[in-house]
Amino acid sequence: MKKNIVIIGTGGTIAGKASCSTETLCYTAAMVSINNLIQEVPEIQSIANVTGEQLSQVDSGDMTCELWLTLVKRINEILATSDVDGIVITHGTDTLEETAYLLHLVIKSEKPVVLVGAMRPFSAMSADGPMNLYKAVTLAASNAAIGKGVLVSLNNTINCGREVTKTNTLLQDSFQSPDIGYLGYLQGSEPHFYRLPARKHTINSGFDVTKLTELPQVEIIYGYLNSSPLLAEAAVAAGAKGIVYAGLGNGSMSKDVRDALSILAKQGIVIVRSTRVASGIVTRNGAVDDDLYNFVASDTLSPQKARILLMLALTKTNNSNEIQRMFWDY
Ligand code: ASP
Repeated sequence: MKKNIVIIGTGGTIAGKASCSTETLCYTAAMVSINNLIQEVPEIQSIANVTGEQLSQVDSGDMTCELWLTLVKRINEILATSDVDGIVITHGTDTLEETAYLLHLVIKSEKPVVLVGAMRPFSAMSADGPMNLYKAVTLAASNAAIGKGVLVSLNNTINCGREVTKTNTLLQDSFQSPDIGYLGYLQGSEPHFYRLPARKHTINSGFDVTKLTELPQVEIIYGYLNSSPLLAEAAVAAGAKGIVYAGLGNGSMSKDVRDALSILAKQGIVIVRSTRVASGIVTRNGAVDDDLYNFVASDTLSPQKARILLMLALTKTNNSNEIQRMFWDY
Protein backbone atom coordinates (compact mmCIF):
# COMPACT_ATOMS: atom_id res chain seq x y z
CA MET A 1 0.00 0.00 0.00
CA LYS A 2 1.27 3.49 -0.86
CA LYS A 3 2.27 5.67 2.08
CA ASN A 4 0.92 9.16 2.76
CA ILE A 5 3.56 11.87 2.69
CA VAL A 6 3.07 15.58 3.37
CA ILE A 7 5.51 18.00 1.72
CA ILE A 8 5.85 21.25 3.65
CA GLY A 9 7.13 24.13 1.51
CA THR A 10 9.21 26.85 3.13
CA GLY A 11 10.83 28.48 0.05
CA GLY A 12 14.47 28.47 -1.10
CA THR A 13 16.18 27.95 -4.44
CA ILE A 14 14.25 24.75 -5.05
CA ALA A 15 11.33 27.15 -5.55
CA GLY A 16 13.46 29.87 -7.17
CA LYS A 17 13.10 31.56 -10.56
CA ALA A 18 15.65 33.26 -12.81
CA SER A 19 15.09 35.33 -15.95
CA CYS A 20 16.14 32.46 -18.26
CA SER A 21 16.90 28.73 -18.10
CA THR A 22 20.69 29.17 -18.37
CA GLU A 23 20.88 31.44 -15.35
CA THR A 24 21.75 29.46 -12.23
CA LEU A 25 23.29 32.09 -9.95
CA CYS A 26 21.24 35.29 -10.20
CA TYR A 27 17.65 34.46 -9.37
CA THR A 28 14.96 35.04 -6.78
CA ALA A 29 14.43 32.23 -4.27
CA ALA A 30 10.98 31.21 -3.01
CA MET A 31 8.78 32.01 -6.05
CA VAL A 32 7.12 28.70 -6.94
CA SER A 33 4.40 27.30 -4.68
CA ILE A 34 4.76 23.86 -3.15
CA ASN A 35 1.74 22.60 -5.11
CA ASN A 36 3.35 23.73 -8.39
CA LEU A 37 6.59 21.98 -7.40
CA ILE A 38 4.69 18.78 -6.72
CA GLN A 39 2.82 19.05 -10.05
CA GLU A 40 6.16 19.33 -11.85
CA VAL A 41 7.21 15.93 -10.48
CA PRO A 42 4.19 13.72 -11.24
CA GLU A 43 6.42 10.64 -10.80
CA ILE A 44 6.32 11.04 -7.01
CA GLN A 45 2.62 10.09 -6.95
CA SER A 46 3.62 6.57 -7.96
CA ILE A 47 5.79 6.30 -4.84
CA ALA A 48 3.38 7.78 -2.29
CA ASN A 49 0.17 9.75 -1.91
CA VAL A 50 1.67 13.21 -1.71
CA THR A 51 0.02 16.41 -0.55
CA GLY A 52 1.54 19.86 -0.20
CA GLU A 53 1.32 22.49 2.49
CA GLN A 54 2.89 25.96 2.23
CA LEU A 55 4.28 27.02 5.62
CA SER A 56 6.30 30.00 4.35
CA GLN A 57 7.79 31.30 1.12
CA VAL A 58 11.20 32.69 2.08
CA ASP A 59 14.84 32.67 1.14
CA SER A 60 16.26 30.58 4.00
CA GLY A 61 18.33 33.56 5.13
CA ASP A 62 14.97 34.91 6.32
CA MET A 63 14.04 31.80 8.29
CA THR A 64 13.46 32.92 11.89
CA CYS A 65 13.15 31.29 15.32
CA GLU A 66 9.47 32.24 15.22
CA LEU A 67 9.00 30.37 11.93
CA TRP A 68 10.95 27.45 13.39
CA LEU A 69 8.54 27.16 16.30
CA THR A 70 5.56 27.23 13.92
CA LEU A 71 7.24 24.56 11.77
CA VAL A 72 7.99 22.31 14.75
CA LYS A 73 4.42 22.55 16.07
CA ARG A 74 2.98 21.80 12.64
CA ILE A 75 5.25 18.79 12.05
CA ASN A 76 4.50 17.32 15.47
CA GLU A 77 0.78 17.87 14.83
CA ILE A 78 0.84 16.20 11.40
CA LEU A 79 2.96 13.24 12.53
CA ALA A 80 0.69 12.60 15.51
CA THR A 81 -2.14 11.67 13.09
CA SER A 82 -2.37 8.06 11.98
CA ASP A 83 -2.98 8.90 8.32
CA VAL A 84 0.44 10.52 7.64
CA ASP A 85 3.55 8.32 7.35
CA GLY A 86 6.28 10.88 6.80
CA ILE A 87 7.16 14.47 6.02
CA VAL A 88 9.40 16.16 3.46
CA ILE A 89 10.34 19.81 3.94
CA THR A 90 11.57 21.93 1.03
CA HIS A 91 14.01 24.53 2.33
CA GLY A 92 16.62 27.00 1.12
CA THR A 93 20.09 25.52 1.28
CA ASP A 94 21.78 28.42 3.10
CA THR A 95 20.35 27.57 6.53
CA LEU A 96 18.97 24.09 5.79
CA GLU A 97 21.53 22.44 8.08
CA GLU A 98 20.35 24.60 11.00
CA THR A 99 16.68 23.76 10.58
CA ALA A 100 17.63 20.10 10.16
CA TYR A 101 19.48 19.98 13.48
CA LEU A 102 16.77 21.90 15.33
CA LEU A 103 14.11 19.47 14.07
CA HIS A 104 16.37 16.48 14.83
CA LEU A 105 16.33 17.60 18.48
CA VAL A 106 12.67 18.51 18.94
CA ILE A 107 10.44 16.39 16.68
CA LYS A 108 8.51 13.87 18.76
CA SER A 109 8.06 11.06 16.28
CA GLU A 110 9.92 8.13 14.76
CA LYS A 111 8.27 8.73 11.40
CA PRO A 112 10.67 9.92 8.69
CA VAL A 113 11.29 13.66 8.33
CA VAL A 114 13.46 14.60 5.35
CA LEU A 115 14.74 18.05 4.41
CA VAL A 116 15.49 18.78 0.79
CA GLY A 117 16.68 21.74 -1.25
CA ALA A 118 18.37 22.50 -4.53
CA MET A 119 21.48 24.30 -5.68
CA ARG A 120 19.92 25.38 -8.99
CA PRO A 121 16.66 27.30 -9.25
CA PHE A 122 13.46 25.64 -10.41
CA SER A 123 13.66 27.59 -13.70
CA ALA A 124 17.17 26.30 -14.61
CA MET A 125 18.06 23.88 -17.37
CA SER A 126 18.96 20.64 -15.54
CA ALA A 127 17.54 21.93 -12.26
CA ASP A 128 18.41 19.55 -9.42
CA GLY A 129 15.26 20.30 -7.38
CA PRO A 130 12.78 17.92 -9.07
CA MET A 131 15.06 14.87 -8.77
CA ASN A 132 16.05 15.84 -5.22
CA LEU A 133 12.37 16.12 -4.31
CA TYR A 134 11.59 12.76 -5.90
CA LYS A 135 14.40 11.10 -3.93
CA ALA A 136 13.38 12.84 -0.69
CA VAL A 137 9.85 11.47 -1.02
CA THR A 138 11.29 8.03 -1.75
CA LEU A 139 13.29 8.28 1.46
CA ALA A 140 10.40 9.60 3.57
CA ALA A 141 8.16 6.79 2.30
CA SER A 142 10.70 4.07 3.13
CA ASN A 143 10.59 1.83 6.20
CA ALA A 144 14.39 2.15 6.35
CA ALA A 145 14.13 5.83 7.33
CA ILE A 146 11.91 5.17 10.36
CA GLY A 147 13.60 6.01 13.67
CA LYS A 148 16.71 7.52 12.07
CA GLY A 149 16.00 11.10 13.13
CA VAL A 150 15.78 14.05 10.78
CA LEU A 151 17.50 13.35 7.47
CA VAL A 152 18.80 15.63 4.72
CA SER A 153 18.85 14.40 1.15
CA LEU A 154 20.31 16.20 -1.87
CA ASN A 155 22.27 14.77 -4.78
CA ASN A 156 21.38 11.13 -3.94
CA THR A 157 22.93 11.26 -0.46
CA ILE A 158 21.37 10.62 2.96
CA ASN A 159 22.77 12.78 5.77
CA CYS A 160 22.04 13.03 9.48
CA GLY A 161 20.58 16.40 10.58
CA ARG A 162 23.33 16.64 13.21
CA GLU A 163 26.24 16.23 10.82
CA VAL A 164 25.28 17.76 7.51
CA THR A 165 26.64 21.08 6.29
CA LYS A 166 26.72 23.14 3.11
CA THR A 167 30.31 23.04 1.87
CA ASN A 168 30.21 24.84 -1.47
CA THR A 169 28.38 27.97 -2.59
CA LEU A 170 27.62 26.65 -6.10
CA LEU A 171 28.03 22.95 -6.65
CA GLN A 172 25.33 20.32 -6.56
CA ASP A 173 27.31 18.07 -4.23
CA SER A 174 27.52 20.91 -1.72
CA PHE A 175 25.87 18.97 1.14
CA GLN A 176 28.36 16.82 3.02
CA SER A 177 28.82 15.37 6.50
CA PRO A 178 32.55 16.12 6.85
CA ASP A 179 33.24 14.46 10.20
CA ILE A 180 31.24 11.27 10.14
CA GLY A 181 30.24 10.86 6.51
CA TYR A 182 26.91 10.21 4.82
CA LEU A 183 24.48 7.82 6.46
CA GLY A 184 23.80 6.37 3.05
CA TYR A 185 22.86 6.80 -0.58
CA LEU A 186 19.69 6.66 -2.61
CA GLN A 187 20.15 4.20 -5.43
CA GLY A 188 17.25 4.21 -7.85
CA SER A 189 14.29 4.46 -5.54
CA GLU A 190 15.96 2.49 -2.73
CA PRO A 191 17.61 4.08 0.29
CA HIS A 192 20.79 2.25 1.31
CA PHE A 193 21.91 3.00 4.88
CA TYR A 194 25.47 2.18 6.00
CA ARG A 195 25.56 3.77 9.49
CA LEU A 196 23.20 5.10 12.16
CA PRO A 197 23.02 8.34 14.17
CA ALA A 198 24.52 7.54 17.58
CA ARG A 199 23.50 10.67 19.48
CA LYS A 200 20.09 11.33 21.07
CA HIS A 201 17.40 12.70 18.77
CA THR A 202 13.63 12.97 18.21
CA ILE A 203 11.74 10.68 20.62
CA ASN A 204 14.83 10.20 22.82
CA SER A 205 15.53 13.91 23.07
CA GLY A 206 14.69 15.76 26.28
CA PHE A 207 13.93 19.02 24.45
CA ASP A 208 10.39 20.19 23.85
CA VAL A 209 9.61 23.56 22.30
CA THR A 210 5.91 23.06 21.65
CA LYS A 211 4.86 25.44 24.41
CA LEU A 212 7.51 28.09 23.74
CA THR A 213 6.89 31.38 21.95
CA GLU A 214 10.59 32.27 21.63
CA LEU A 215 14.05 30.75 22.02
CA PRO A 216 16.84 32.14 24.24
CA GLN A 217 19.15 34.59 22.47
CA VAL A 218 22.52 33.07 21.57
CA GLU A 219 25.04 34.86 19.37
CA ILE A 220 28.03 33.49 17.46
CA ILE A 221 31.32 35.40 17.63
CA TYR A 222 33.96 34.59 15.02
CA GLY A 223 37.61 34.18 16.05
CA TYR A 224 40.54 35.54 14.02
CA LEU A 225 44.09 36.78 14.53
CA ASN A 226 44.16 39.78 16.89
CA SER A 227 40.38 39.55 17.55
CA SER A 228 39.06 41.68 20.39
CA PRO A 229 36.40 40.93 23.04
CA LEU A 230 34.29 43.84 21.75
CA LEU A 231 31.64 41.87 19.89
CA ALA A 232 31.10 39.30 22.66
CA GLU A 233 30.61 42.09 25.19
CA ALA A 234 28.25 43.93 22.82
CA ALA A 235 26.20 40.75 22.28
CA VAL A 236 25.71 40.29 26.01
CA ALA A 237 24.88 43.99 26.47
CA ALA A 238 22.20 43.46 23.78
CA GLY A 239 20.63 40.57 25.72
CA ALA A 240 22.49 37.39 24.68
CA LYS A 241 22.24 34.62 27.26
CA GLY A 242 24.84 32.50 25.54
CA ILE A 243 27.83 32.96 23.26
CA VAL A 244 29.25 30.43 20.84
CA TYR A 245 32.84 31.32 20.09
CA ALA A 246 33.90 30.09 16.64
CA GLY A 247 37.47 29.70 17.83
CA LEU A 248 40.76 28.99 16.15
CA GLY A 249 41.93 25.41 15.68
CA ASN A 250 40.75 23.26 18.59
CA GLY A 251 38.51 26.09 19.89
CA SER A 252 41.46 28.28 20.84
CA MET A 253 41.31 32.04 21.47
CA SER A 254 43.58 34.95 22.38
CA LYS A 255 44.28 35.72 26.02
CA ASP A 256 42.23 38.95 25.75
CA VAL A 257 39.19 37.15 24.39
CA ARG A 258 39.54 34.32 26.93
CA ASP A 259 39.69 36.75 29.86
CA ALA A 260 36.66 38.68 28.63
CA LEU A 261 34.65 35.50 28.03
CA SER A 262 35.61 34.28 31.48
CA ILE A 263 34.16 37.47 33.02
CA LEU A 264 30.95 36.95 31.03
CA ALA A 265 30.80 33.31 32.24
CA LYS A 266 31.05 34.53 35.84
CA GLN A 267 28.01 36.73 35.11
CA GLY A 268 26.00 33.61 34.14
CA ILE A 269 26.41 33.81 30.36
CA VAL A 270 27.07 30.35 28.94
CA ILE A 271 30.17 30.28 26.72
CA VAL A 272 30.55 27.44 24.22
CA ARG A 273 33.86 26.97 22.43
CA SER A 274 33.42 25.77 18.87
CA THR A 275 35.80 26.17 15.93
CA ARG A 276 36.02 27.93 12.61
CA VAL A 277 37.75 24.78 11.26
CA ALA A 278 35.42 22.73 9.01
CA SER A 279 35.73 19.43 10.87
CA GLY A 280 37.10 17.79 14.00
CA ILE A 281 36.45 17.74 17.74
CA VAL A 282 36.79 20.68 20.11
CA THR A 283 38.34 18.95 23.10
CA ARG A 284 37.25 19.81 26.63
CA ASN A 285 40.22 21.24 28.58
CA GLY A 286 42.33 20.98 25.42
CA ALA A 287 43.35 24.35 23.95
CA VAL A 288 41.59 26.12 26.86
CA ASP A 289 41.07 25.04 30.48
CA ASP A 290 37.26 24.80 30.44
CA ASP A 291 37.12 23.64 34.06
CA LEU A 292 38.92 26.79 35.15
CA TYR A 293 36.93 29.24 33.04
CA ASN A 294 33.57 27.47 33.21
CA PHE A 295 33.32 27.11 29.44
CA VAL A 296 31.64 24.36 27.42
CA ALA A 297 33.38 22.49 24.57
CA SER A 298 31.24 21.99 21.45
CA ASP A 299 32.51 18.48 20.59
CA THR A 300 32.06 18.14 16.79
CA LEU A 301 29.28 20.73 16.45
CA SER A 302 29.95 23.62 14.09
CA PRO A 303 29.28 27.09 15.51
CA GLN A 304 25.84 27.29 13.85
CA LYS A 305 24.82 23.87 15.21
CA ALA A 306 26.33 24.55 18.65
CA ARG A 307 24.14 27.69 18.77
CA ILE A 308 21.01 25.57 18.28
CA LEU A 309 21.92 23.09 21.01
CA LEU A 310 22.83 25.95 23.35
CA MET A 311 19.50 27.71 22.69
CA LEU A 312 17.64 24.50 23.56
CA ALA A 313 19.89 23.82 26.56
CA LEU A 314 19.17 27.31 27.90
CA THR A 315 15.45 26.51 27.92
CA LYS A 316 16.35 24.09 30.74
CA THR A 317 19.37 25.42 32.63
CA ASN A 318 22.32 27.82 32.52
CA ASN A 319 24.58 25.47 34.48
CA SER A 320 27.63 24.97 32.26
CA ASN A 321 28.38 21.46 33.60
CA GLU A 322 24.88 20.26 32.75
CA ILE A 323 25.12 21.94 29.36
CA GLN A 324 28.48 20.24 28.73
CA ARG A 325 26.78 16.89 29.36
CA MET A 326 24.16 17.80 26.75
CA PHE A 327 26.95 18.50 24.27
CA TRP A 328 28.21 14.94 24.84
CA ASP A 329 24.71 13.46 24.59
CA TYR A 330 23.32 15.26 21.54
N1 ASP B 1 19.54 31.70 -0.84
C1 ASP B 1 18.88 30.44 -1.06
C2 ASP B 1 18.18 30.03 0.22
O1 ASP B 1 18.83 29.60 1.12
C3 ASP B 1 19.87 29.43 -1.49
C4 ASP B 1 19.32 28.05 -1.78
O2 ASP B 1 18.22 27.67 -1.45
O3 ASP B 1 20.10 27.27 -2.40
O4 ASP B 1 16.99 30.15 0.31
